[in-house]
Formats: sequence, C-alpha cells, structure tokens
Amino acid sequence: MRKVSIFGATGSIGQNTVDLIARDPNTYDVVALTGGANIALLAEDAKRLRADIAITAYDDRLDDLRAALAGTGIEAAAGQAALVEAGARPADWVMSAIVGAAGLAPGLEALKQGATLALANKETLVCAGQLVLDTARQHDARLLPVDSEHSAIFQALVGEDMASVERIIITASGGAFRDWPLEALEHASLAEASNHPNWDMGQRITIDSASMFNKALEVIETREFFGVDPSQIEVIIHPESMVHSLVGFRDGALMAHLGAPDMRHAIGYALHWPERRDLPVARLDLAQLGQLNFKAPEDARYPALRLAYEVMDRGGLSGAVFNAAKERALDAFIAERIGFLDMACVVEQVLDRFEANPGLIDAQMTLDNVTQTDHLARLWADEAMAQRAGR
Ligand code: NAD
Ligand code: MG
Repeated sequence: MRKVSIFGATGSIGQNTVDLIARDPNTYDVVALTGGANIALLAEDAKRLRADIAITAYDDRLDDLRAALAGTGIEAAAGQAALVEAGARPADWVMSAIVGAAGLAPGLEALKQGATLALANKETLVCAGQLVLDTARQHDARLLPVDSEHSAIFQALVGEDMASVERIIITASGGAFRDWPLEALEHASLAEASNHPNWDMGQRITIDSASMFNKALEVIETREFFGVDPSQIEVIIHPESMVHSLVGFRDGALMAHLGAPDMRHAIGYALHWPERRDLPVARLDLAQLGQLNFKAPEDARYPALRLAYEVMDRGGLSGAVFNAAKERALDAFIAERIGFLDMACVVEQVLDRFEANPGLIDAQMTLDNVTQTDHLARLWADEAMAQRAGR
C-alpha cells in the first residue's frame, strides 16, 4: 500500500485528490488529512479514507474535530505546529494543497522525510524556491508539479534535455475581466471577481486569476521549478483553457499539452507518475471545439505580470515579499476594504519599500527569514492600505 497524506484536503484541489484516492481504496494507506474550518467535511473524509490523523488549522476547532471523530480511532489535532508535525509523518506521497504561504512549512517537512511532494501550493516555490529545491535535493525527495500549467510543461519535457528548451509559454484564461473595458476594472466587485470563466477553484485563486496575480505567481513558479531564465518565459491569453501550456525547443518545435479544464488530470499525473493510468476526465472533442484562440496580454490590464518579472530580476526574498503583500491585499479585497485595482498598487508599494531596504531582501533564504519577511511584508501592506484609505 502507498502511504499518502493530503494537506488542504477540504479545498478544491484537496477534494479532487480525495476523489481520486477514494476510487482506489486498496492501493492507498491514508496517513494525514488537513483542513481549516470545515470540520464536518474533514471528519467525513478522514472516516471515508480511514486516515490515521485529521488536523484542523484552527486551535479553537479542536474540540469540534474530536467530537466528530469520537469512537473512530482517528487521531485529531489542531494548529500550525500540528500541521508541520503532519508533514513529518512517514508518507510516500504528499499533496500540498493548502492555500497561501501557510503551505510552505508543512511541505518542507514532508520533503525532509524524503516524501514525493505533489505541489499545488505554488506559493511554496514563489516564497522559498531555492530553499525548497535544496531541501528536496538533500533528502533525496521529489517535487512534482500539480498546477495545470506546470504539469503541462513537465509532461512536454519528458525525454527532453533542458539545454534544448528555448522558451516556455504559459497560457492564461485572462480571468473574469479579460473582456471588460479597462475603465470598468476600478469598480469590479468581489462577486464579479470570484467567478472564473473556465475553472472551478477556491475563491482566492479565482480572484487571483482575474487580477493575473495567479499567473504572476506561476511565472515565478516556472522559473524556480524548471530553472529557466525569466527572459525564456512568456504568457499568452488563451480564453478556452484547453491548451494548458507549451514548451518551445531550439529547433522551432512547440509542444503543447491539451485537455479539458479538470484538475484531476494534473493531480492524477502526479499521483501515478511516472506511469499514466486511466483518469475520470472528459476527453476533448477537437471537431466540436472547432477553434482555439490566443492573444497577447495587455500590460495595462495586468500590472501583476510586470511585477512578477521585477521580482525575478530582484531575486533573494522578494518572492516572499510579493506573495505576502498580495495575500494581504487579497484579504482586504475579499473584506471589501480596497478596490480591485488597489491590490497591485499595494503590492508594488510594499516591493518598493523593501527595495529601499536591500539588506532585508538579501538575507539568507532560511525558513525563519522567509517567515519574518512574510510577516513584515504583511505589516507594510497594512500600512500601505491605511495610507491609501487616509488619502
Ligand atoms: P481552497 O481555498 O479551495 O482550499 C484551501 C485548503 O487549505 C483548504 O483545505 C483550507 O482549509 C486550507 N487552508 C486555508 N488556509 C489555511 C491555513 N492558513 N493553514 C492551513 N490550512 C489552510 O484552495 P484551492 O483552490 O484548492 O488551492 C489550493 C492551492 O492549490 C493554492 O496554492 C492554489 O494556488 C493551488 N492551485 C489550485 C488550483 C485549483 O484548481 N483550485 C489549481 C492550481 C493550483
Ligand atoms: Mg495554474
């Protein structure tokens, strides 16, 4: 039996992972499931998959979780330390599907015990790419991409030499506002930003798709995962989300990965890698699709993309700054305290403030320094938002 754990099991990626694991109960021995406030779902899945332990991120929900698991023999735990401890529980394969920088520490712990880490949590590589890659190398652990674009690139590279790669083209749906007049973006509402044209995902990544912060994170994730130069990474708008990304080789060939927009493909590929197994995803009917469209992203519509390239140029801990400021600005947009376009302005202001304090960004990339930088960036994002509100 393969020992597996799912971090962020109650979320969108987590539930798709649970779906695949539950189809094959005799193959998997489920170790840990983690979740947040949805205790009923966490307990139900822990029982269904016969997990050893279920962990909620929230200390004050431990009693509820214990009550929901009473008499099952499944352990209950809560809080950040318990999440990290879950990463240390021996497992062969671990799904990293917590949202945000909170996914970093449990994922690092899983790498330290030599597990294969299936990485949906792109923030892990954005915040601490070098640290994560070094940790994997030191412990002979493997990272596999789950983000659909990175899974597509990874699949296009099977059997290829990285030296023959000329460029990587990441596709983007363009999000909820790709066809809106630019002037209207300022007043885009939370409900409007929370509605993705093609993918069914968690609320945070859906809003990040509308602002292209999601693609900005993915550009940085691509640089870290595949070790290419930022100048080799391009973004193209592809409204149908059927081509999941492309790799261009030095002989001019472009290898594209196509499929229906269903995350169970990328999750299943990482689960069964290096084999391919049957997956319950829809098959594309190209004749019915008829045509696919592509267009260049407009700079004015998507400032987040420009910021991503600045972050890559800057290097050091600026990825952690970028992500933390973005998370905080997104919190404020979700709380309807700032407008849609304010998010990029806040992130840029925080990046500029760090740029004026280069010692902070150039500190050594340890988990402690990443965590401290993350906290400071959130604080400075709050200050930037307070200033804007006061104007
Ligand atoms: P989601 O919001 O649906 O689920 C997030 C999960 O993390 C839930 O289980 C939640 O309880 C848990 N969680 C939230 N905050 C936490 C915290 N502070 N500490 C511990 N646990 C916490 O998110 P999602 O859409 O499934 O995305 C998960 C990750 O996968 C993100 O990094 C996202 O960018 C990435 N991703 C998602 C998709 C998708 O289709 N949803 C596609 C590609 C990549
Ligand atoms: Mg993606």
